[in-house]
Amino acid sequence: MTTPTSYDVHAIRAQFPILSREVHGKPLAYFDSAASAQKPQAVIDAQARYLSHTHSNIHRGVHALAQEATEAYEGAREKVRAHLGAASTREILFVGGTTDGINLVAQTWGRVNLSAGDSIVLTRMEHHSNIVPWQMLALERGFDIHVVELNPDGTLDGDQFEQHLNRGPKLVAFTHVSNALGTVNDVKHWTARAHDAGATVLVDGAQSVPHLAVNVQELDVDFYTFSGHKTYGPTGIGILYGKEALLDAMPPWRGGGEMIGTVSFENGTTYNELPYKFEAGTPHISGGIALGAALDWMNGVGMASLTAHEHVLTQHAHARLANVDGMRFIGTAPCKAGVVSFLIDGVHPYDLGTLLDQLGIAVRTGHHCTEPLMDKLGIPGTVRASFGAYNTVEEVDRLAEAVARAAAMLR
Ligand code: PMP
Repeated sequence: MTTPTSYDVHAIRAQFPILSREVHGKPLAYFDSAASAQKPQAVIDAQARYLSHTHSNIHRGVHALAQEATEAYEGAREKVRAHLGAASTREILFVGGTTDGINLVAQTWGRVNLSAGDSIVLTRMEHHSNIVPWQMLALERGFDIHVVELNPDGTLDGDQFEQHLNRGPKLVAFTHVSNALGTVNDVKHWTARAHDAGATVLVDGAQSVPHLAVNVQELDVDFYTFSGHKTYGPTGIGILYGKEALLDAMPPWRGGGEMIGTVSFENGTTYNELPYKFEAGTPHISGGIALGAALDWMNGVGMASLTAHEHVLTQHAHARLANVDGMRFIGTAPCKAGVVSFLIDGVHPYDLGTLLDQLGIAVRTGHHCTEPLMDKLGIPGTVRASFGAYNTVEEVDRLAEAVARAAAMLR
């Protein structure tokens, strides 16, 4: 794969105000998009325009601002629906982020469907946010959690996955792309296999939606969730997609305004229709609108171009970093997206990250909220460089040179 000739990374960079700032007197090279992506001017403007021109509470007002705000927010929901290829906006819930989306499924679908004697399947590469909500519920409900282990290259152990499916789990919950390893999992294949086994499927899309075109109907997933801030949008907003029949059958989680039909002390409370049944209280209106703008921005760049460009960066980073003495890559799957994780013999990741920061290079060090994975690998953490639409091959060269120099100093 090569970067498409039409992909003008410098024109893209010019749209991100933060990229023109310096850090410690050096130009910023931002390699931490997996933790949170930077924001293009179009997203900043969409949020500012809403706040300075349109803001009002939504859904409940007859006045002009209330109607305009409602239209903008519901318009953003439609943009998300189109981006994910969902059948209906009834299937698109605004949530706080991926963590919030998974907790919603655990606390509603999970509470109704999982009990003692049942099992669910997770994988070794899950982020804590797709582990802990299930552990919390398992403590209460008494079901078992089975874990799919990994092959040495950081891909899922398919034989073991099949063995766990043979036990007839109620739920299979796994990540599309690993934030620690970069591995891209074959969601379509494992979703079909899980459905054959009678399981419901939840996919954590936090690291896939920023890099890959995702179509929930093609993948046939039951639940799919992602975070706005990793897709060039704001923090505090994200999406949970769920198939309408499943969402319809699920009880609400948070109670309050907006999620109700009628409320009565005498006759009890009825709930609103989808998706509002799951959206209690005043939502993050400006965040939802800006998330819509972020998806517009990504589609303006073109998802295929973005994927191809980031693939080139990932390959180049592997090739350049491989020349560094003592380099050990953590995660060498054939299909990776946006992440290069590594360790260098005799160098603590934290020290390396700190030295790189002095050179204006932002990487992340640590366990990346995947402690069970790090424990299994017998390592405290990694240094992780992750890529976004705005990174350049020259920045990757700068990273590789800086890593080599810093590692030599630290040894
Ligand atoms: N899953 C994965 C794979 C992630 O990388 C992250 C964020 N690091 C999350 C879930 C949690 O996302 P958020 O903090 O935005 O809820």
